[in-house]
Amino acid sequence: MLNVVIFGAPGSGKGTQSELIIKEYGLDHISTGDVLRSEMKNETELGKIAKDYIEKGQLVPDELIVNMLAKVLDSKANSKGVIFDGFPRTIPQAEALKKMLNERGTDVSIMLNLQVDEDELIKRLLERGKVSGRSDDNLETIKSRLEVYHKQTAPLADFYVKEGKHVAIKGMGTIEEIFGRIKEAINAVK
Ligand code: AMP
Repeated sequence: MLNVVIFGAPGSGKGTQSELIIKEYGLDHISTGDVLRSEMKNETELGKIAKDYIEKGQLVPDELIVNMLAKVLDSKANSKGVIFDGFPRTIPQAEALKKMLNERGTDVSIMLNLQVDEDELIKRLLERGKVSGRSDDNLETIKSRLEVYHKQTAPLADFYVKEGKHVAIKGMGTIEEIFGRIKEAINAVK
Protein backbone atom coordinates (compact mmCIF):
# COMPACT_ATOMS: atom_id res chain seq x y z
CA MET A 1 0.00 0.00 0.00
CA LEU A 2 1.03 3.56 -0.64
CA ASN A 3 0.10 5.48 2.51
CA VAL A 4 0.71 9.20 2.37
CA VAL A 5 0.44 11.62 5.29
CA ILE A 6 -0.13 15.12 3.97
CA PHE A 7 0.96 17.57 6.62
CA GLY A 8 1.11 21.32 7.07
CA ALA A 9 -0.54 24.32 8.70
CA PRO A 10 -4.17 25.19 8.07
CA GLY A 11 -4.25 26.78 4.61
CA SER A 12 -1.09 25.05 3.41
CA GLY A 13 -2.99 23.31 0.58
CA LYS A 14 -3.46 19.83 2.03
CA GLY A 15 -7.01 19.45 0.67
CA THR A 16 -6.18 20.84 -2.78
CA GLN A 17 -3.07 18.70 -3.22
CA SER A 18 -4.84 15.63 -1.80
CA GLU A 19 -7.37 15.78 -4.65
CA LEU A 20 -4.56 15.79 -7.23
CA ILE A 21 -2.70 12.95 -5.49
CA ILE A 22 -5.87 10.85 -5.38
CA LYS A 23 -6.44 11.33 -9.12
CA GLU A 24 -2.82 10.53 -10.02
CA TYR A 25 -2.28 7.52 -7.75
CA GLY A 26 -5.81 6.16 -7.17
CA LEU A 27 -5.61 6.46 -3.42
CA ASP A 28 -8.44 6.69 -0.91
CA HIS A 29 -8.78 9.92 1.03
CA ILE A 30 -9.31 10.24 4.77
CA SER A 31 -9.70 13.81 5.97
CA THR A 32 -10.51 13.88 9.68
CA GLY A 33 -11.76 17.48 9.30
CA ASP A 34 -14.25 16.36 6.60
CA VAL A 35 -15.40 13.41 8.73
CA LEU A 36 -15.92 15.73 11.71
CA ARG A 37 -17.83 18.28 9.61
CA SER A 38 -20.11 15.51 8.35
CA GLU A 39 -20.68 14.32 11.95
CA MET A 40 -21.53 17.92 12.88
CA LYS A 41 -23.96 18.24 9.98
CA ASN A 42 -25.69 15.00 11.00
CA GLU A 43 -25.76 16.17 14.63
CA THR A 44 -24.29 12.92 15.95
CA GLU A 45 -22.92 12.67 19.51
CA LEU A 46 -19.37 13.02 18.16
CA GLY A 47 -20.44 15.95 15.98
CA LYS A 48 -21.92 17.77 18.95
CA ILE A 49 -18.73 17.32 21.00
CA ALA A 50 -16.45 18.25 18.08
CA LYS A 51 -18.36 21.46 17.29
CA ASP A 52 -17.14 23.29 20.41
CA TYR A 53 -13.50 22.43 19.73
CA ILE A 54 -13.68 23.24 16.03
CA GLU A 55 -15.32 26.61 16.59
CA LYS A 56 -12.61 27.56 19.07
CA GLY A 57 -9.89 26.39 16.67
CA GLN A 58 -8.75 23.72 19.14
CA LEU A 59 -8.00 20.07 18.56
CA VAL A 60 -10.66 17.45 19.22
CA PRO A 61 -9.32 15.04 21.92
CA ASP A 62 -7.01 12.29 20.62
CA GLU A 63 -9.11 9.40 21.88
CA LEU A 64 -12.19 10.50 19.92
CA ILE A 65 -10.16 11.11 16.77
CA VAL A 66 -8.27 7.81 16.96
CA ASN A 67 -11.50 5.80 17.45
CA MET A 68 -13.11 7.62 14.57
CA LEU A 69 -10.08 7.05 12.35
CA ALA A 70 -9.97 3.31 13.13
CA LYS A 71 -13.55 2.91 11.90
CA VAL A 72 -12.92 4.85 8.69
CA LEU A 73 -9.72 2.88 8.07
CA ASP A 74 -11.58 -0.42 8.34
CA SER A 75 -13.97 0.75 5.64
CA LYS A 76 -10.92 1.15 3.30
CA ALA A 77 -9.55 -2.34 3.88
CA ASN A 78 -9.12 -3.20 0.17
CA SER A 79 -7.56 0.07 -0.80
CA LYS A 80 -4.38 0.60 -2.90
CA GLY A 81 -3.37 3.10 -0.27
CA VAL A 82 -4.68 6.00 1.73
CA ILE A 83 -3.91 9.68 1.91
CA PHE A 84 -4.24 10.95 5.48
CA ASP A 85 -5.21 14.61 5.41
CA GLY A 86 -5.33 16.54 8.69
CA PHE A 87 -4.34 13.44 10.65
CA PRO A 88 -2.17 12.84 12.64
CA ARG A 89 -2.01 16.20 14.42
CA THR A 90 -0.35 15.12 17.68
CA ILE A 91 2.36 12.62 18.66
CA PRO A 92 -0.18 10.21 20.28
CA GLN A 93 -2.17 10.27 17.02
CA ALA A 94 0.98 9.49 15.00
CA GLU A 95 1.80 6.60 17.34
CA ALA A 96 -1.77 5.30 17.10
CA LEU A 97 -1.66 5.51 13.29
CA LYS A 98 1.60 3.58 13.15
CA LYS A 99 0.12 0.86 15.38
CA MET A 100 -3.11 0.65 13.37
CA LEU A 101 -1.26 0.39 10.06
CA ASN A 102 1.28 -2.12 11.42
CA GLU A 103 -1.58 -4.31 12.68
CA ARG A 104 -2.91 -4.26 9.11
CA GLY A 105 0.49 -5.26 7.73
CA THR A 106 1.38 -1.84 6.35
CA ASP A 107 2.91 1.52 7.39
CA VAL A 108 3.17 5.18 6.43
CA SER A 109 5.14 5.36 3.15
CA ILE A 110 5.86 9.08 3.18
CA MET A 111 5.02 12.26 5.08
CA LEU A 112 4.78 15.38 2.92
CA ASN A 113 5.33 18.53 4.98
CA LEU A 114 3.92 21.51 3.05
CA GLN A 115 5.77 24.70 3.98
CA VAL A 116 3.97 28.00 3.48
CA ASP A 117 4.70 31.49 4.86
CA GLU A 118 2.44 32.62 7.71
CA ASP A 119 0.96 35.70 5.94
CA GLU A 120 0.17 33.57 2.89
CA LEU A 121 -1.67 31.05 5.14
CA ILE A 122 -3.86 33.78 6.65
CA LYS A 123 -4.54 35.26 3.22
CA ARG A 124 -5.60 31.88 1.79
CA LEU A 125 -7.81 30.99 4.77
CA LEU A 126 -9.61 34.36 4.72
CA GLU A 127 -10.12 33.94 0.97
CA ARG A 128 -11.49 30.40 1.52
CA GLY A 129 -13.76 31.73 4.28
CA LYS A 130 -15.66 33.78 1.70
CA VAL A 131 -16.88 30.59 -0.01
CA SER A 132 -16.29 27.63 2.32
CA GLY A 133 -19.16 28.25 4.72
CA ARG A 134 -16.81 26.90 7.42
CA SER A 135 -17.48 28.38 10.84
CA ASP A 136 -13.73 28.25 11.62
CA ASP A 137 -12.51 30.25 8.59
CA ASN A 138 -12.70 33.64 10.37
CA LEU A 139 -9.73 35.72 11.53
CA GLU A 140 -10.09 34.99 15.25
CA THR A 141 -10.39 31.22 14.82
CA ILE A 142 -7.71 31.18 12.12
CA LYS A 143 -5.29 32.74 14.62
CA SER A 144 -5.98 30.10 17.26
CA ARG A 145 -5.77 27.30 14.65
CA LEU A 146 -2.33 28.56 13.63
CA GLU A 147 -1.21 28.80 17.25
CA VAL A 148 -2.45 25.24 17.92
CA TYR A 149 -0.63 24.11 14.79
CA HIS A 150 2.70 25.61 15.93
CA LYS A 151 2.39 24.31 19.49
CA GLN A 152 0.81 20.89 19.12
CA THR A 153 1.13 19.76 15.51
CA ALA A 154 4.37 21.13 14.05
CA PRO A 155 6.54 19.13 16.55
CA LEU A 156 5.24 15.99 14.81
CA ALA A 157 7.62 16.66 11.94
CA ASP A 158 10.42 15.28 14.13
CA PHE A 159 8.51 12.05 14.68
CA TYR A 160 8.54 11.43 10.91
CA VAL A 161 12.14 12.60 10.53
CA LYS A 162 13.10 9.88 13.01
CA GLU A 163 10.96 7.37 11.09
CA GLY A 164 12.82 8.34 7.90
CA LYS A 165 9.51 9.31 6.25
CA HIS A 166 9.67 13.13 6.31
CA VAL A 167 9.92 15.14 3.07
CA ALA A 168 9.69 18.95 3.15
CA ILE A 169 7.73 20.37 0.21
CA LYS A 170 7.80 24.05 -0.69
CA GLY A 171 4.10 24.92 -0.61
CA MET A 172 4.40 28.34 -2.31
CA GLY A 173 3.88 28.85 -6.04
CA THR A 174 1.15 27.58 -8.36
CA ILE A 175 -0.91 24.48 -7.54
CA GLU A 176 0.77 22.69 -10.47
CA GLU A 177 4.28 23.62 -9.36
CA ILE A 178 3.59 22.33 -5.86
CA PHE A 179 2.02 19.14 -7.21
CA GLY A 180 5.13 18.61 -9.38
CA ARG A 181 7.29 18.62 -6.24
CA ILE A 182 4.89 16.22 -4.52
CA LYS A 183 4.93 13.76 -7.45
CA GLU A 184 8.71 13.74 -7.44
CA ALA A 185 8.72 12.89 -3.72
CA ILE A 186 6.08 10.17 -4.01
CA ASN A 187 7.65 8.57 -7.09
CA ALA A 188 10.90 8.25 -5.17
CA VAL A 189 9.28 5.95 -2.57
CA LYS A 190 6.72 4.16 -4.75
P1 AMP B 1 -9.22 20.66 9.07
O1 AMP B 1 -10.39 20.50 8.14
O2 AMP B 1 -8.21 19.56 8.93
O3 AMP B 1 -8.62 22.04 9.01
O4 AMP B 1 -9.81 20.50 10.55
C1 AMP B 1 -10.77 21.42 11.08
C2 AMP B 1 -10.85 21.25 12.59
O5 AMP B 1 -11.27 19.92 12.91
C3 AMP B 1 -9.54 21.43 13.34
O6 AMP B 1 -9.27 22.80 13.63
C4 AMP B 1 -9.79 20.63 14.61
O7 AMP B 1 -10.64 21.32 15.51
C5 AMP B 1 -10.58 19.43 14.07
N1 AMP B 1 -9.68 18.31 13.65
C6 AMP B 1 -9.52 17.83 12.39
N2 AMP B 1 -8.63 16.82 12.37
C7 AMP B 1 -8.22 16.66 13.66
C8 AMP B 1 -7.28 15.80 14.29
N3 AMP B 1 -6.57 14.91 13.59
N4 AMP B 1 -7.12 15.92 15.64
C9 AMP B 1 -7.82 16.83 16.35
N5 AMP B 1 -8.71 17.68 15.82
C10 AMP B 1 -8.92 17.62 14.48
